[in-house]
Amino acid sequence: MSALPQVVLREHALPANDAPSPFGDPPVFRLLGELLVAEGHLDPAALGTALSVQRASGRRLGEVCRDCLDTDPACIDALALRQQEHRGPAAILRRAGLGPHQVSQALRRLESREPLWRIARDTGYLDEEGVAFVHAALSALPYADPSLVDEVDAEGLAAASVPVFADQAFVPIRFSPAGGIEVAITQPEARALAHNAYHAFGAVRCRFASRSTVQEILCRTFSDARAGLLRAIERAEAAVRRAASGEESDHDINRRLLATLLRFACHAGASDVRLYSTLYRGTLNARFDGVGQDLTEISRPLLDALWVLMANDARIRPESVSNRLVEGSITFQDDPAMREEFADVFERYSFRLELGSSAGGGRSASIRLLDSQSAGTSIERVGYEAQDLSAIRRVLAQPDGLVLLTGPTGSGKTTSLYAMLEAIDPERMSIQTIENPVERRHGKWLQYEVGKAATDTERDAFLDHFRQLLRNDPDVIMLGEIRSREAARLAVQAAQTGHLVFSTLHVDRAAQVFGRFRGLGVDPRELAEHLSLVVAQRLVRRLCPRCAVPDDRPLLHELLGSAAVSWLAWNPALARRGFPGGCSHCNFTGYRGRAMVYEMLEPDAGVRNMVECGVGGLEMEQRLFAGGRSLWDQGLRLLARGLTSLEALRESVREPR
Ligand SMILES: [Zn+2]
Repeated sequence: MSALPQVVLREHALPANDAPSPFGDPPVFRLLGELLVAEGHLDPAALGTALSVQRASGRRLGEVCRDCLDTDPACIDALALRQQEHRGPAAILRRAGLGPHQVSQALRRLESREPLWRIARDTGYLDEEGVAFVHAALSALPYADPSLVDEVDAEGLAAASVPVFADQAFVPIRFSPAGGIEVAITQPEARALAHNAYHAFGAVRCRFASRSTVQEILCRTFSDARAGLLRAIERAEAAVRRAASGEESDHDINRRLLATLLRFACHAGASDVRLYSTLYRGTLNARFDGVGQDLTEISRPLLDALWVLMANDARIRPESVSNRLVEGSITFQDDPAMREEFADVFERYSFRLELGSSAGGGRSASIRLLDSQSAGTSIERVGYEAQDLSAIRRVLAQPDGLVLLTGPTGSGKTTSLYAMLEAIDPERMSIQTIENPVERRHGKWLQYEVGKAATDTERDAFLDHFRQLLRNDPDVIMLGEIRSREAARLAVQAAQTGHLVFSTLHVDRAAQVFGRFRGLGVDPRELAEHLSLVVAQRLVRRLCPRCAVPDDRPLLHELLGSAAVSWLAWNPALARRGFPGGCSHCNFTGYRGRAMVYEMLEPDAGVRNMVECGVGGLEMEQRLFAGGRSLWDQGLRLLARGLTSLEALRESVREPR
């Protein structure tokens, strides 16, 4: 026995990470030999013999087992087939989320010898993460989703002097609990480079991640992105001063500053950036998790230069911006070199610009970041509880009805709305939308972009679009927001005439939709008849997992304790609050990311009865959402799990009295 060679299974056959991926099972590709052992057809020692014969003879393992070890050929064939099913291109595409029709189309293109990942990308069904998943599956490596950013142990790596290369397609993550070092790569070729760079630190365990994820890790964890931004501002200020003294100025410096600012905002997780002038200075402000934060001051000349640059880029004539806001987008379309250099920014995000200029010469620019791959685009990832998720799925499977999402601006309604639409097969159902703006382009939806419908002309344009849309006979209609009587009327009519209609409404609580529709001239009883579902939601800031501290204030215990009596499972040791001043992981705010809280109203006979009897919103709310079902109760659940703090909850959800 001792003469037998040791059984060496290829390292990549067993992924180091078994974290669940949003694409379903992690890509575990077991080799034929492993399967034979696992299924009891071979013992490990016999496999060792077979492998050494295979290496010496160059024959296939299945043949060796059949001829030398008398393994049942039928079993070998069956296992080989199963293995093929797991790792074949069709299986990979299915796991990445393509439907049967798309898979067969993609496979036809395989005949032209195009690489599978490129085919996957070109089908338009897979985003950057999906393509990374396909890459991972093809190289039999685990795929890591964007949450990998939270797993990076910068301190541990720095303590061991692990080098980081900012311009490479790989980045170290942490030392693995199983030994060796974990590295994220973005291209198959980077694997060998990573091995060369880090083999001194033990086994190199690679995981595939998207380019954006790796760029975000580099930006957020290993480089002081804010310091980089401040340096770019310094250079631009110097250039502005040179220009003022008549010297030649370099226009590129300002363009680079703008691109650097956008990259900083994208990777630091901001939702908006604002530049505005005060009397003598300009201010740069960014909004993180719903809270604005001043980044730095800049000089008026630099602010004016950036303002004009943005206007030009968005094809807005500066003279046209006077005492009003003008909308556009920043694209860098005229600067392919810069677009290429900042590809992680411009390929993934788009930037909605709103320029303003006051009579006194003050100027402002708001840039809204739209992430074409924003997280939470599947209903499983939005954060619904299991029974609510099945209620949503039931509604999505119906041919008609009206689904409303409610909440104030910035409560994540659009994300939830897109997630629901994403769950509908666009090949079987024709999906058409009217939005302002279109936040996410979808290859298989027909999307109309309209103005805010604030003026008569815009209202007419909206109605035109709606009529045009109905002529196309869609199955599913999404109206970005119901603001006007026309929109309310049309939404209900469309639901009545066999369409599944989705929209958002600016009310606080689910039970208030009936009152609001009455205000918009729609009989609440008619609404109740066609309404399928209402979800009211808010986003609550999440505590930073690195620096949050236990919270044992009596106030909190009283609050959670009384809920615990009836419906809340609660372990007092779990309660947390933000650490004043935060840490580098949370940008010194104590919070990182946001979680959704919601309440769901399914208009059943009881609800219709209440509407019939004219029961008001407040009373309906109390009757429907008692005992742990309200927005606030959902927030208490987060609080009890130590995910958010009382302060953050009160910021977002009104406390019941
Ligand atoms: Zn922190």
